[in-house]
Amino acid sequence: MKDQYDVVVLGGGLAGLTLSLQLKNAKPGISILVLERRETAAATAAHKVGESTVELGTHYLREVLQLTEYLEAHELPKHGLRFFFKNNTKEDIASRVELGPRLRLPVPSHQVDRGTLENYLMTHTQEKGNDLELGAKVSAVDILPEDNHVVTYIKDGKEIKVKCRWVADASGRASVMKRKLQFQKPMEHHSNAVWWRLKGVIDIDTWTDNKNWQGYLEPGLRYLSTVHFMDKGYWLWVIPLGSKNTSIGIVADPAVHPFDTFNTYEKAVEWMKVNEPLPYKMLVPLGQGDGLLDFKILKHYAHHTGKLYSNDRWGVTGESGAFLDPLYSPGTDFIAMNNSWLSDLILRDLDGEDIETRVTVYEQSHLALVDAWIPVYQNKYLLMGNTQIMVIKIFWDWATYWAVPAHLFANKAFVNMRILKDLFAAKDSLGRKFGQLNKIMQDLFLEWRPFENEIFSNRYIDPFDLQFLRTFQEGIEVQREPADLTEQIKTNMNKLEQLAVAIFRLVSAQVNGTSTDIKVNPYTINLGKNDEAMMLDTESENAIEPNESITKDVEVMWFYPKVSMQPA
Ligand SMILES: Cc1cc2nc3c(=O)[nH]c(=O)nc-3n(C[C@H](O)[C@H](O)[C@H](O)COP(=O)(O)OP(=O)(O)OC[C@H]3O[C@@H](n4cnc5c(N)ncnc54)[C@H](O)[C@@H]3O)c2cc1C
Repeated sequence: MKDQYDVVVLGGGLAGLTLSLQLKNAKPGISILVLERRETAAATAAHKVGESTVELGTHYLREVLQLTEYLEAHELPKHGLRFFFKNNTKEDIASRVELGPRLRLPVPSHQVDRGTLENYLMTHTQEKGNDLELGAKVSAVDILPEDNHVVTYIKDGKEIKVKCRWVADASGRASVMKRKLQFQKPMEHHSNAVWWRLKGVIDIDTWTDNKNWQGYLEPGLRYLSTVHFMDKGYWLWVIPLGSKNTSIGIVADPAVHPFDTFNTYEKAVEWMKVNEPLPYKMLVPLGQGDGLLDFKILKHYAHHTGKLYSNDRWGVTGESGAFLDPLYSPGTDFIAMNNSWLSDLILRDLDGEDIETRVTVYEQSHLALVDAWIPVYQNKYLLMGNTQIMVIKIFWDWATYWAVPAHLFANKAFVNMRILKDLFAAKDSLGRKFGQLNKIMQDLFLEWRPFENEIFSNRYIDPFDLQFLRTFQEGIEVQREPADLTEQIKTNMNKLEQLAVAIFRLVSAQVNGTSTDIKVNPYTINLGKNDEAMMLDTESENAIEPNESITKDVEVMWFYPKVSMQPA
């Protein structure tokens, strides 16, 4: 151990370890110390949540950190996200509406055992030349803008001080810097979670004898999905782990499912008996004896942050900054973006560059991204028992995620000042319109709720039957020159606008009896049911109609016959 480093990382969880690797890969001569308070290696399976990765985070792990070989050898390939919706015969999995990919996916993602992964990352970062101290609890951080900072930690009862040019806070919910400098910020999304790990492999394909249903997918593929069982106010996850164990979790809005109805293992079992009888029947026997590996709870997991990066040479990353919601598994995505912004600032500063403008632009972009994402989750748990709304919302949420942030990240656009300026600087810029359009659609889903309560059964819907979703997903990793990238985002935004109009035409026909052929300005979309509703623009030159392909795609996700609007 030295007494001075370029960077001291507070916390050796996923964010801290990956940051140390990203910096080392970019600048092999850099000196980094990671301080982790846990004293020993992480437990297999029963370690942390954050087990399911999606496209952006996967790109970061595989391409930016070059962990493909490890991930393919030691973790599971993932077969997308899979949803089972509410119906009247929940005991029969085959009768529930199922949404998920049928065929193998072209873009990779993984199911990771967080214990196995963090143990590997700890070894790997040390092999690369970074220092790591286990059993090292950070007790103080002195930020000295004109000098080296001083980090104090306790190890084996002794107080140790280490100097550094940069402090990277990756201490998770301990949030060392946020507590020290008091930049907590309220988060208006509220939900609670519990999770536990069960010994052994659980394959939901075996939860029925229905051969026809089993045959929709190649054997073994359903097992590799992140499975969500969903109904009003909650979802329950089943995630397979490479260590041949299984992660189970319940995530619920307290307005529908108060936390004290499922915040112990015994209560969670009772909760499943009432809300999810099939998982109850299948999972409870496996949790007996030594089958139950752990049980963890987290009340009000979403939190915001007032700061992320500082000109005084410190930054926060991972859960020590902001965390929104685990639906769609975006935790690793946010770590990827956060680490990429922070490491870019650190590397430029170490190279002698003035980073002041970048600190401001990166922080504004990051906070804007978090704020733009809040409506995806806020109050949306109330929709989880409305199958038709949720099917359309899930497709909308994937479309926006793949078309814009995932594609920008894979093209390193978030650290390209020219692209950031092109996309976000002007009031009517594409980036701002993206946030606006998403908010309009998220509000539409809420406004639609009183009018759409049909219970559907016996349907399988595959996102990759939709041309626009396939194109967006396959396009994520296509590398483009900056000017082409801005053009592509423009094209993608144009498709999202058409998609919004195509969805709205069907919803408005159902609720207001309007024609399914009307032109609509996507930025005026609403059903007119709220006080102070914006006037729907169907006549100006900004009113558009979707092309044939998008119209057809939207009809695939619409469960009613187009004309009569009666249940199929
Ligand atoms: C219910 C739920 C489900 C989730 N599911 C997913 C998912 O499926 N996919 C996904 O990508 N993300 C998921 N996430 C998010 C994911 O868990 C987080 O993004 C990720 O774990 C955050 O990693 P981190 O490194 O920031 O924090 P942590 O993993 O908590 O690491 C912080 C580290 O800092 C150490 N530390 C704390 N204080 C100190 C100190 N004073 N000194 C030294 N060390 C210290 C801790 O010991 C810890 O190891 C989920 C989150 C929740 C709440």
